[in-house]
Amino acid sequence: MSTRLLLATRNPGKLAELQRLLATAVPGVDVVGLRDVEEYPEAPETGATFADNALLKAREAVRHTGLPAVADDSGLSVDALNGMPGVLSARWSGRHGDDDANTALLLGQLADVPDERRGAAFVCAAALVTPDGIERVLEREWRGRVVREKRGSNGFGYDPVFVPEGLELTSAELSAAEKDARSHRGQAFAALVPVLAEVLGAR
Ligand code: IMP
Repeated sequence: MSTRLLLATRNPGKLAELQRLLATAVPGVDVVGLRDVEEYPEAPETGATFADNALLKAREAVRHTGLPAVADDSGLSVDALNGMPGVLSARWSGRHGDDDANTALLLGQLADVPDERRGAAFVCAAALVTPDGIERVLEREWRGRVVREKRGSNGFGYDPVFVPEGLELTSAELSAAEKDARSHRGQAFAALVPVLAEVLGAR
């Protein structure tokens, strides 16, 4: 019998990515998304860290569905802003999910910051919580720098102004597969695979 694992997201891209990673690594685990379970009210992301928010979302998913659940939380941490926007990345301009306004505000804030101090990292925390109270959380980052003008139309959020270390293209100029292979989220999900195998495989 297969174990159902809930990925607490409505984002079909994230769901497909975890499904791909788990299909070979943890056979017998059926990954479903929030669209596949009865709807429940999602609490606001009030945590002070990415790990706190990922755990909050995974715990809430378990409480509402009774399924083991994975949740992630991510954002951009800019060195010259002491790690901000951080957990506030999605609502940096004051409007949740307004990617253009968030990016424009960030570029304005960094206007006088010289090239050598424009380092930043995308960070992703991924949390696993089971109905019997096992909790694991891990975090991965993708270092790079914030450039001065937007380039590229793939991806979302701050992708058009983020150039990953070792590359000249922005992450919005990478294909989805190229981004997944390197990104903070790709790395965090990949690192979660052996944890899932250990925790769910032993059930
Ligand atoms: P969430 O983890 O889906 O809540 O994303 C938080 C916010 O961080 C997004 O709205 C984006 O602004 C930013 N962010 C997280 N990951 C990425 C990424 O891979 N590319 C661009 N922006 C990202």
